[in-house]
Amino acid sequence: MKANQSYEQVRGLFTQYLKENQHRKTPERYAILEHIYNYVGHFNAELLYNSMTENYRVSLATVYNTLDLMMAANLIVKHQLGGQFAQYEKNFGSNIHNHLICSNCGKVKEFSDKQIRTSIQTKTFSLFEVSHYSLYLFGLCSKCKELLHNENAKSL
Ligand SMILES: [Zn+2]
Ligand SMILES: [Zn+2]
Repeated sequence: MKANQSYEQVRGLFTQYLKENQHRKTPERYAILEHIYNYVGHFNAELLYNSMTENYRVSLATVYNTLDLMMAANLIVKHQLGGQFAQYEKNFGSNIHNHLICSNCGKVKEFSDKQIRTSIQTKTFSLFEVSHYSLYLFGLCSKCKELLHNENAKSL
């Protein structure tokens, strides 16, 4: 799916959601939506806000408010990864993937694995139907590993 195509679809879904729930269709909200859909990977609200204010006037409150609306509309997902900030990512036009999370700096890396996917998709549960999944693997990124290694070496 091309990036543009998916943005048009997402825009339509957002409009529908705002209409049905009687929220105003403000240009700020669409600017935030577009910004998110042009962005690849995970982000937090502050990061989004800072990257937007370079060429658009929005308040941090509007950013948070719009993120909540987009979550309710199922257009983004929020990850509680134990870091300082909640991380978000778009929920549309991206493939099922898993996450490698650094317990030290909170950096997130994504990976897909055919074997994991097949084994989850072929698993059946009694009285439960799986709609989607996300796997989190915690550990240390190479930067933090090196950093901690150097600190340990110094304190010896
Ligand atoms: Zn790290
Ligand atoms: Zn992800």
